[in-house]
Amino acid sequence: MTGKQSVTVIGLGPMGQAMVNAFLDKGHQVTVWNRTASRADALVARGAVLAKSPEEAIKANELIILSLTDYEAMYSVLDTAQDSLAGRVLVNLSSDTPGKTRAGAHWVTERGGIHITGGVTVPPSGIGDPESSTYYSGPREPFEQHKSTLEALTSTDYRGEDPGLAALVYQIGMAMFWTSMLGYWQAIAIGEANGLKATDVLPSAEETMTAMPGFLSFYAQRIDAGNHEGDVDRLAMGLASVEHVLHTIEDAGVDTTLQAAVVELFRRGVKAGHAADSFSSLLELMKKKPS
Ligand code: NDP
Repeated sequence: MTGKQSVTVIGLGPMGQAMVNAFLDKGHQVTVWNRTASRADALVARGAVLAKSPEEAIKANELIILSLTDYEAMYSVLDTAQDSLAGRVLVNLSSDTPGKTRAGAHWVTERGGIHITGGVTVPPSGIGDPESSTYYSGPREPFEQHKSTLEALTSTDYRGEDPGLAALVYQIGMAMFWTSMLGYWQAIAIGEANGLKATDVLPSAEETMTAMPGFLSFYAQRIDAGNHEGDVDRLAMGLASVEHVLHTIEDAGVDTTLQAAVVELFRRGVKAGHAADSFSSLLELMKKKPS
């Protein structure tokens, strides 16, 4: 016995595997289950116990970590194990929309279980590192009770009781992550078409990203004050600039999908009368329309 809480991990994609390894590294006993059983082989060789069914995996421990593609996968996996959920604490680190995480939490609670939502903000390589962080939301008391065990994975960032909250902050982050990384692929594609390698593009990409926090903070304060004044930048200038990028991309023979969408949004802004406003006025076009 190690004195550490034993845990169950269901879902052994790259993330689930990293989680099991982190728990094993820190002396926790781990029971695992995965639809494709062979994915457990290396973990079993390290001492994890492979359950024969989701039900057996859930019955093995009070604390269950789910690391699945999405919440549909959770229903699929737990379908035959519904009677074993009472009294178990399910920490669901699968990503999905805030709405689906709320519905999933309700589904688990109806069956007598406790559901805590999580949103992991790092890739599998960051699991086990206290510098990494995971958003959590759901009932506070069971979260506090299991916090120290969850810290074997990453540090914890508890956001509140609403089960959708962790998913919401996670999705807000991902909304920026995916578009930023596509912008990076686009920059590399332009570079490669002009004889540069990704590592040649890297220094200017890093310089651009390093400047971003200043922009984020500057515009957040003005946006909250309802200020889209064109005193620092004007949308008309922005449109000319994004068209220069588009033309550079066209000249390079690179795919235009992403930049064409950017230009389209800027053109809509100008057409809506914002030419002399800041490009932050595009937010008004992107916002939820009042019903
Ligand atoms: P994968 O999609 O690679 O694997 C997830 C697991 O889900 C696998 O074990 C897979 O089983 C299982 N699964 C999927 N559908 C079903 C189903 N219908 N029935 C049963 N099992 C199913 O995801 P990752 O491991 O990469 O990530 C897990 C979660 O963590 C995801 O929600 C992801 O968004 C999130 N995440 C991932 C990050 C990453 O960099 N990988 C970073 C941050 C968050 P099988 O092995 O049988 O296919």
